[in-house]
Amino acid sequence: MTDTAAADLGFDPDALRRRYAVERAKRLRPEGKDQYLEVSGAYASFAEDRYAELPEREPIAQDVDALVIGGGFGGLLAGARLRQAGLANVRLVEKGGRIGGTWYWNQYPGAQCDIESYIYLPLLEELGVIPTERYARAPEILAHAQRIADHYDLTEGAVLGTEVTQARWADSEGRWIVTTNRGDRFAARFVVSATGPLHRPKLPGVGGIGEFGGHAFHTSRWDYAYTGGGPDGDLDKLDDVRVAVIGTGATAVQIVPHLGRAAAHLFVFQRTPSSVDVRGNRPTDPAWVAGLRPGWHRERVRNFNAILSGVPQEVDLVADGWTTLVDKLMEIYRNGRAGALDRPFEEVLELANFEKMEEIRARVDAEVEDPSVAEALKPYYKMFCKRPCFHDEYLATFNRSNVTLVDTGGRGVDRITRDGVVAGGTLHEVDCIIYATGFEVGTGYERRAGFQICGRNGRTLTEKWNDRGMRTLHGMLSAGYPNFFILGQSQAGWTANYTQLLDEATLHMAAIVGHLEAERLWTVEATPEAEDAWADEIVAHAVNGTGGIGGTDCTPGYYNNEGQPLDGPPWIASYGKGSVEYFRRTKAWRESGDWQGVTFTTR
Ligand code: NDP
Repeated sequence: MTDTAAADLGFDPDALRRRYAVERAKRLRPEGKDQYLEVSGAYASFAEDRYAELPEREPIAQDVDALVIGGGFGGLLAGARLRQAGLANVRLVEKGGRIGGTWYWNQYPGAQCDIESYIYLPLLEELGVIPTERYARAPEILAHAQRIADHYDLTEGAVLGTEVTQARWADSEGRWIVTTNRGDRFAARFVVSATGPLHRPKLPGVGGIGEFGGHAFHTSRWDYAYTGGGPDGDLDKLDDVRVAVIGTGATAVQIVPHLGRAAAHLFVFQRTPSSVDVRGNRPTDPAWVAGLRPGWHRERVRNFNAILSGVPQEVDLVADGWTTLVDKLMEIYRNGRAGALDRPFEEVLELANFEKMEEIRARVDAEVEDPSVAEALKPYYKMFCKRPCFHDEYLATFNRSNVTLVDTGGRGVDRITRDGVVAGGTLHEVDCIIYATGFEVGTGYERRAGFQICGRNGRTLTEKWNDRGMRTLHGMLSAGYPNFFILGQSQAGWTANYTQLLDEATLHMAAIVGHLEAERLWTVEATPEAEDAWADEIVAHAVNGTGGIGGTDCTPGYYNNEGQPLDGPPWIASYGKGSVEYFRRTKAWRESGDWQGVTFTTR
């Protein structure tokens, strides 16, 4: 890159490339995802339900048509669609004390969807609902989850505050025997595993967590009895409390403004800064609602995903931080800025990415008064290496005199002591530590789901997948596990709007179940040949060697297996040709009626 070219661009790509590489190297850890502490044993209390009393009850023994494990949007959509497919007895089993999944657990102050609520919330047209704001807050989203459960008659039979411990296929009965931590025993013809991609909290892998003398909790188990207030903030018990927040991901970005307003002093311990773009929330415009036509919801969802997938659309219906970001990247390419026309596509995209991140970094300068604090808050990595964040108050919170950013230069906190948090060799004394350190990603499926899955001949899914890697058809069916449906992103289509995948996946599942019902068949499972072919295709088209959406050159994080190569080929990757093609292909498969790649049995 010549000086002139750098001057034309307004930044020096070579210098940025070098800086990104330096920042990445600072953060790489040989232990990868094993650096984190599992929330079990001595740390199990970090995962306890704080939101509901779980009364004693008698164990349940029952035959059901379908048992859906998980009461979040995945489980609710599965339940709704299984009912529509004609199954009478469908029960949800949910670990939390109420329906809601991630929106039950993440009741922290400021929790809000950051995908537009008009596309994030499922079944809006079916239920005749319009969210009150463009980015709805957690209580409204939780209420919508409950509304779905009520509408599809899933509330009464829901088994709450209960963890499934094992699902075992019993050939003699032609059913799954599902047991729970409350002594229940269900015999289920179908099992749907809808346990969610990010539900097992994790802690930083540092010493001393158990020695801390103050109060501590994870963001997904917010302790309002301690902080006061509620999901809207007003944390009125913190005015003489010194609080530490560890982590600066999407959750921290939402809680920090509330804690900054409430705490006597707030220390924010940062390892990697998030990219924080404009939020721009607003109440729903009644005139816009009046103009909506039937089919608007599905079309809006589709349009958003098409744009994010780089499929040109005549109109950008959502026009939010996500789509305009991609639009901007594409526009820079199309207009041939930065000498685009005589450069390879990848290089132009990289330049466009630099330009977008320069804008994000300039926003930090505009919002944060102290230049050294501003510098520390600037993300030096490519857009989409980490989850983009959107907030209008996060950055300015660091202008408050009671808020200190403790930047650890990519190293993370050193350790916890009885009195507080040590970073860079300095002890910061605090009364309360809030772990905003996220959730397990990339650990074994059964470990994350929380229960053992024993298929034909008692073989666990872990044993099967340890052998030759993850094997599924469409990310959903696995040979040897009849009538067992997995909802998730691995080997399926990746979407920023996760509920779209859940919606499509549950339509797919319901079409298969509907076929069984119509033809009086009893079981369905993938053939070994079909799942081998699907796994080969996943590996061949994996976007990068890590199986995540962040590239191998990205700053480590859960998008790229913490920057470490996977043990084997990237079997856990999402479908590499993108979700638009995945949805098209799975729809064509189920509509073709030839059911290639699965076998059916009768009873
Ligand atoms: P993340 O995994 O995104 O963030 C964890 C944070 O903890 C990171 O900043 C990480 O740093 C930091 N961390 C980990 N270990 C240490 C350590 N030893 N010392 C200091 N810091 C450490 O978790 P979140 O809960 O923020 O978000 C998880 C996901 O949930 C999001 O990516 C998003 O998909 C979803 N989410 C969605 C929201 C929405 O829709 N509104 C809101 C919130 C979350 P580093 O980056 O260096 O690893």
